Amino acid sequence: MKTIGLIGGMSWESSIVYYELINKKVKEKLGGFHSCKSLMYTVDFDQIVELQHEDKWKELDVIMADAAKRLEKGGADIVVLCTNTMHLCSKAITDSISIPFLHIAEATGMAVSNQNIKKIALLGTRFTMEKDFYKEVLTDKFGIEVIIPNDSEREKVHKIIYEELVHGQIKPESKEVYKTIIANLERRGAQGVILGCTEIPLLISNSDVNIPTFDTTKIHAEKAVDWILNND
Ligand code: GLU
Repeated sequence: MKTIGLIGGMSWESSIVYYELINKKVKEKLGGFHSCKSLMYTVDFDQIVELQHEDKWKELDVIMADAAKRLEKGGADIVVLCTNTMHLCSKAITDSISIPFLHIAEATGMAVSNQNIKKIALLGTRFTMEKDFYKEVLTDKFGIEVIIPNDSEREKVHKIIYEELVHGQIKPESKEVYKTIIANLERRGAQGVILGCTEIPLLISNSDVNIPTFDTTKIHAEKAVDWILNND
């Protein structure tokens, strides 16, 4: 088995889920006492959130590249960045390491394509919904049309992530807000919805909505396990 290098802490609420999922998946695949060989380098999320909201992506590039390099030095065979938003720094990461980087939008695009979905809704932070870095992977690599909530809905989705979910707060009223927004996206023709923030699956699951949900945390973590087991 090869070793997964995880860049965590964004937030640690979802990093825990990654850790649990990779170990469960290895146990499911190999049985017995098997668990996942992994390293996690965790950043201080306070600094990350501040730089994100000041639009200082060059500084974030440096922090993400440094984290990836530490994992490579520590013996990781592949780097997994445990957040959708910070994939804005993907290029800085891939430029700084010589081991593979498993892009979350590529893993997700594959999962969406496998279900023959042509038009998908994307929920996430404002950065993920509004900037191109995520949507263009889905569109250019997989030919999937991506729609996002309207401006006031995006504000609500973003606020609930940063004010509640990353602090481990799961509120029934916020679940209702997300359900309404997803229903509106369904009316606009979305055949499925990408839970494109690694904390959203803590709030919303398949049984809450009418269209298929794509849990990016699970898709990404399980893809990483497939990689370490198949590339041994
Ligand atoms: N974990 C979230 C994501 O998947 C948001 C936190 C962050 O800003 O990285 O986008």
